[in-house]
Amino acid sequence: MIQDNRSKYFVFVPFCLLSQAYQAQGLVKYEWQSSIKPIVELLLDNNINIIQMPCTESSFNNNLIRKPMGLAKYNNKEFNEHCEKLATQVADEIKNIIASNYKVIAILGIEQSPSCCVNYIYTNHGNENRKGLFIEKLYNKIEDFNIPIIGINRKYINKSFKQLEAIIKKEIYKKII
Ligand code: SF4
Repeated sequence: MIQDNRSKYFVFVPFCLLSQAYQAQGLVKYEWQSSIKPIVELLLDNNINIIQMPCTESSFNNNLIRKPMGLAKYNNKEFNEHCEKLATQVADEIKNIIASNYKVIAILGIEQSPSCCVNYIYTNHGNENRKGLFIEKLYNKIEDFNIPIIGINRKYINKSFKQLEAIIKKEIYKKII
């Protein structure tokens, strides 16, 4: 193989981690107006390739400008099929990267999102412990690779930052935290 200066490490991120304008209206409340800066900067500072996953909610019927909706509004046949199709594309990309001897060190989600949360989801009756519709389907397709999936919580960004930082130290610098 021809050698060059590339990083062989990858993190898959939700579309809105880089472009918060894709979030539902009223949800961009914190100090970062576009990208979720602390997380993006952590990835850039460690020379990690960033793969932006598709935004299931904005791409469903061209729904970029939309009101926030709970799980019940999204959990239907059409939206689940849309998530399934996009999760298959992302899973294929992950498999392609791994087959090329590169390393996917983490996949990030966004907590509370009906599509992209990892631990807790927004419903019309408060938060519920479960994965989002898209992340759940993606997880089922790549479970065997044991890739850590971290839910980014914008309100408690330091906690999310530390979780990702620990994975970077372990996977890239081989340090046990
Ligand atoms: S569906 Fe996912 S990528 Fe799109 S705005 Fe929601 S959390 Fe972000």
